[in-house]
Parts: sequence; C-alpha cells; structure tokens
Amino acid sequence: MTTSTRLTSLSRSVAGHRVLVTGAGSGIGRATAHLFADEGASVAVTDLDGDRAERVAAEITGAGGSARAWPLDVADAAAVDRVMAETVAHMGGLDVLVNNAGIPAGAPIESADYGDTWHAALDVMLTGMTLTIRAAMAHLRASAAGRVVNVSSTEGVGGSPSTSAYTAAKHGVVGLTRALAVELGETGITVNAVGPGPIDTGMTAGIPDEAKVKFARRRVPVRRYADPEEVAHGIVHLALPASSYITGHLLMVDGGMTVKNN
Ligand code: NAP
Repeated sequence: MTTSTRLTSLSRSVAGHRVLVTGAGSGIGRATAHLFADEGASVAVTDLDGDRAERVAAEITGAGGSARAWPLDVADAAAVDRVMAETVAHMGGLDVLVNNAGIPAGAPIESADYGDTWHAALDVMLTGMTLTIRAAMAHLRASAAGRVVNVSSTEGVGGSPSTSAYTAAKHGVVGLTRALAVELGETGITVNAVGPGPIDTGMTAGIPDEAKVKFARRRVPVRRYADPEEVAHGIVHLALPASSYITGHLLMVDGGMTVKNN
C-alpha cells in the first residue's frame, strides 16, 4: 500500500465463489449453505441424507440462489473423491470447503458401546475432514482465495462428562486446523475453525426447552442458545477473500461461554 492509497482492494464478497459444505442438510450446515448462496456464491450442498440435501438445494434455488445437492458420507473415502470431482466439474472449481458434518457421539468411557461411539466420532468429525481436505487440495491451490473452515465446538477447548469421543474429535479438529494452517501457509490457502457453543439445530433438538434455558442462563453470558445463522456468519467471515491473513484461528461462536468465569 503506497501513501496515496487509502486501502488495498481486499474483497468482502464471496460472490461467484465456489463452495462445498458437508452436513448441509440441517442446522449449521444448512444455514451456511443459505448464507453463501445469499451472498452470490455457488454451493454444493452435501449431506449423508441425500433427500435433505435436495431439500436445502431446492430452498436455495427457489430463493434465486445457485446450489446443487449431492448425497455424501464424509467417512467414505471413495465417495468423497467422487463427489469432490463431480462438484468441481459442475461448479468449475472450488474456492471454499466447509467441513461441518457431525454427530452427537456421547458415551461414558465404561459403556459397552464406547468403541463404536469412538470410531464413529473420529471417522465422521476428524478423519472425514482429512478426506475432504485432501480431495480438495488441488482445486483450492488453483483458487485465488482458497479457504478451509472446519467446525469444532466449545468441546474443542474444554470437556464435559460422557462426551470424551466427541470432545477428542473436536480437539483434534483444532489441532488439524492449526497444523494445516502452518503447512499450507505459503500456498495462500487459509485453514480456520469455528467453535460453536449451544446452537438450536437437529443435534440439540432432543434437549427439552426447559433444560436449554437453564443451561444458557447458567453458562452462557448471552444467556440463550444461538440460531445456526449466527455460526454461519462466522464461517463466511473466515472464508472472505479479505480474511487472507487469518489462518490457524479458532473463532468461538459461543455467546461468551468459554471466557466466562463466574
Ligand atoms: P445437525 O443439525 O444434526 O446437522 C449435522 C448434519 O451432519 C446432519 O444433516 C447430519 O445428517 C450430517 N451428517 C452426520 N453424519 C454425516 C456423515 N457421515 N457425512 C455427512 N454428513 C453427516 O447438527 P449441527 O448442530 O448443525 O451440527 C453441525 C456441526 O456443528 C457438527 O460438526 C457439530 O458437531 C457442530 N456443533 C454443533 C453444536 C450445537 O450445539 N448444535 C455445538 C458445537 C458444535 P443426519 O442428520 O442424516 O445424520
């Protein structure tokens, strides 16, 4: 920047960018797909449940946005490679990968099904991210503003009873994000994470309203669960071309939950 230039021309727009969101049939992923499309991006709406992905893509196109659905299990390496190739061929490239797919995965360490829960948590929420990132790499390198945003959690920085598999996966997401930010720094591809607190989504739908209110009053300074859209704004922010010097960051979107002492 010269003294006569007030600012460089870093863009706060994702219009025309090509975005793939995993687990986009519901909750945070759905809101993220909608927000990118509202901002003018083309969105590959992928989800384990192909019908749900179709519904979200139809909502977006019905509102005038650009989207297409793919069924995708992020734990299935062959499916990840195939869907990545198809989405890139359809959109003409890839600029943003949002690794959002997740499962609740709660089990006490002594429970009989702990092993299954552990493997499911790690497969979907950690190994799945490495599969999508590896499949996306060549395309992100070809982008002028390659961005990876991984969804972690407040469980990525702390822990709760009976959630050790989920918590280990979400801590792993933070480590994966930081290491890849360092490894890929010179490519211009940024790798960041968001850490949602309690959000009203499919994952928390089974918690009675009363318990949600009580928890939020006790633990969350903002004193409520968030709408998924509030997390989507954090994700889109990290994906902006203008966020080019933000990498390896964990952006908590938790209403202040993880900084509260009393
Ligand atoms: P959600 O509404 O249940 O959405 C998660 C989506 O991921 C669902 O559509 C789910 O499909 C899909 N999914 C599950 N396994 C998958 C797989 N193997 N491959 C592809 N998609 C898969 O929950 P959400 O709260 O929006 O969750 C999104 C992310 O936010 C997750 O990573 C979660 O851990 C994280 N998070 C959520 C909260 C919260 O309070 N809600 C807090 C912190 C972090 P099915 O429904 O068909 O399984």
